[in-house]
Parts: sequence; structure tokens; C-alpha cells
Amino acid sequence: MIDQSFNINENCTGCYACYSVCPQSCISMLANEEGFISPSVNSIKCVRCGKCMSVCPILNPDEREFEPSAIACQNRINSSRIKSSSGGVFVALSERIIELEGVVYGAAFNSNFEVEHKSVDSHENIHILQGSKYVQSKIGDSFIHAKEQLSSGKHVLFSGTPCQIAGLMKYLGKKYERLLTIDIVCHGVPSPAVFKKYIEARERLARSRVTEISFRDKKMGWKNFSMRICFENKRVYCRSKDQDPYLKSFLQNGTLRRSCYACRFKGEKRHSDITLADFWGVQNLMPDIDDDKGTSLVLLHSPTGKQMFESIAGDIFSNPADVSEALKYNSAALNSVKRSPFRDQFIKEVTNDNFIKLAHKYFSESPNIRIRRRLLMVIKKLRLEKLVRKIRKK
Ligand SMILES: Cc1cc2nc3c(=O)[nH]c(=O)nc-3n(C[C@H](O)[C@H](O)[C@H](O)COP(=O)(O)OP(=O)(O)OC[C@H]3O[C@@H](n4cnc5c(N)ncnc54)[C@H](O)[C@@H]3O)c2cc1C
Repeated sequence: MIDQSFNINENCTGCYACYSVCPQSCISMLANEEGFISPSVNSIKCVRCGKCMSVCPILNPDEREFEPSAIACQNRINSSRIKSSSGGVFVALSERIIELEGVVYGAAFNSNFEVEHKSVDSHENIHILQGSKYVQSKIGDSFIHAKEQLSSGKHVLFSGTPCQIAGLMKYLGKKYERLLTIDIVCHGVPSPAVFKKYIEARERLARSRVTEISFRDKKMGWKNFSMRICFENKRVYCRSKDQDPYLKSFLQNGTLRRSCYACRFKGEKRHSDITLADFWGVQNLMPDIDDDKGTSLVLLHSPTGKQMFESIAGDIFSNPADVSEALKYNSAALNSVKRSPFRDQFIKEVTNDNFIKLAHKYFSESPNIRIRRRLLMVIKKLRLEKLVRKIRKK
């Protein structure tokens, strides 16, 4: 039975550790009114064994021991780096685990463009896990399956947000020799319900179904990344992070899970073997290697992490970095983001009809972008008027 003093709405990260451990299967993971998945206990089936409380990483915080080392990295294969959000280290580590006949877990889209954890055991399928998806991923039964595979002696790479990795470690209860955990530096995770409304809004405007989504398209550069959406009717939508309403609502902290604003899993020291991040300050610290195609910041936390990283040395260009210098440019690694004053209102009011208008209202644009957008609107209006005059003359 989950402790009554634990405020599920504010504190729960939705990591699935309690759901996975329950011997009676009496915990369901359901969407709350903001669209975030949270545990709900069937009190009739519950035998009050307390296992759910004992694996909660919020109720039972662990000491994190290792001082990490930091490295700037770029995958040597250009196409792998372009498909990845930062430098393409995740794909190189995944390839290695699959060479060892292991399994890789990470976040992927399902056929409805919902984000959930999936496992991959072949080179051809790694691409489904590549790239950041700015939506909270559902773990489902992934912890349970990963434990079964580890117990049968398989190599497992499990990647996720820091709270998901903390939940996995609590659920497993011990470190398996063949387990490699990777967490990402995490800004925070947006609501799946808000993302669904955004997709519906785009589909309505394009009059077509979505076929492909990238939150981190690099055509306008890695630093000026964009949202790119392809549709069945071959239309393509592409807007930079300062223009796209969904990315603006995410980056201005308007759609994140409540627990993200007071995240307990930040810091240099982590529960994972390896932390992956964007090396945002690379142009200042190592200008020679910055080509704006993506550089990863890799933090190694354990002997397992170091060993696996050494095993991909041939696939990766790497340059040692100073941990505190590198993290100066990555505040999300150390501090929770500040909640937008419009967060609750936006999540409550947003629908697929008003998404774009409401996001532009609550989440500001840079002055340059605003001027450009207004100019484009004037040009469109003038062109339309000209067309109407032409038709009338005829
Ligand atoms: C929600 C979110 C917020 C982030 N915020 C920051 C930030 O503020 N600063 C920063 O430096 N980096 C952040 N990152 C991490 C960064 O964008 C890259 O994912 C990371 O550097 C790895 O890059 P890569 O090129 O090696 O691999 P990629 O192929 O780009 O990354 C793939 C990895 O990301 C995982 N992943 C993707 N989406 C999710 C998801 N929704 N939930 C859990 N895991 C997911 C996959 O499982 C896989 O392990 C964030 C990522 C996500 C998903």
C-alpha cells in the first residue's frame, strides 16, 4: 500500500518500480488529469506487503558514490551522428551490446506516436531508440523483462531518464554484472496528453496523418535544432526551437511533470554507469572540434561504464574534459528548471484546436522571431488580397 503521506501528484516520477515489484499485480499505471502516468492501487487485492514503498526511489534515496570523469565525444560515422540528438554515443554503445548478443532498452514511438520503452536485439532496429523524444516514456513491463534477461545471463543496456534508472536499480535490488545503465541529462519530461494534442493539431493543419517526427532535426544546425514532422501526403513541417509551439512550451518549462520542478536525481554523481548529454559549451571549451553537427558530453560513473566506453573507443572521436567546466554550460544536469507561471493554465486549457494560439500566447518568442512571423503574416495577407483582386477582375 503506497504511503498516504506521499503526494502522488507532486512527488511521483512515474518510474514504474512499484508497479513492477508488486507480487499481487494490484498496481495499475494510469494517466492522471494532466496526462502523466501514475500508480493506482487496488486496495481490495493489496496484501499490504510494503514492497511498493520499499522500491520507491523517492521514499528511499540512495547515496551516489562515484566522482565522474567527463569526455567530449562524436560518433565517427557522420550519418549515425546526424540521426542522433547530440554526438551519437548511445548508438555506438547499443551496437556493442548487440554484438555481445544482448538487449537494448530505450524510448521509442509506437504506431500511434506515443512514447514507450521498447527493447531491441538487432542492429537494424537500433534506430527506433535513437533521438530524444520530448515526452515522458512509459516503462510498461520493461523492468520485469530486463530482470528476466539479466537473470538468464544476457547483456542488457537500459537507458532512460535519471528517475527511470533510479527506479530500475531499486526494483532490481542489486547490480548485475552484465547490466549497463545509461541516463540522460534531463530538462524534464512533458505530458503525453499535451503531445497528443499537438500532433492532432498538426494533422488537422496538414490534413494528413503523421508518418515521422524528429524533435532534434539538425538541418538548421545542432544548436538551433528544429521540430520536423512528415505527413502521409508528403508535406513536411519544420520549425526551429524558437518557433515551434511545442518546443517553446517544453523549453520554457510549461508542460513538465510536477516532480521535474524539484527533481531529486540531478547532480554530478548518478545512479547510472554512464550519463549522456549535449555538450552545449563545446564551442567555448573546444572550438576546434565544434562543427555544429552534435557533440555529446559523456560522464563515466563506474568501472562498468569505463570498460564499456573503452570498448567503443574505435567508433568514437573523444577528447577529455573537465567535469565542472563542462557542466557550467549544462544547468539541467545540476538544477531543476523553474516552473512556468502559465504551466497549470496551459495544460488545463490546451486542446488540439487552440494549441498553436495558446502556446504562442503563453510562451514568448525572441523579438527577431516575432518580427519575422508578423512580417510573414502581412506578406501572406497581401498575397491573398492580390489574388482576390485578380479573381474579381476576371
Ligand atoms: C526529455 C529529455 C530531456 C533532455 N534534456 C537535456 C538537457 O536539458 N540537457 C542535455 O544536455 N541533454 C538533454 N537530453 C539528452 C540529449 O538530448 C541526448 O539524448 C543525449 O545527449 C544522448 O544523445 P546521443 O546523441 O548519444 O543519443 P540519442 O540517439 O540522441 O539518444 C537516444 C537516447 O535517449 C533516450 N531517450 C529518448 N527519449 C527519451 C525519453 N522520452 N525518455 C527516456 N529516454 C529517452 C533513448 O532511450 C536513448 O537512450 C534530454 C533528453 C530527453 C529525452
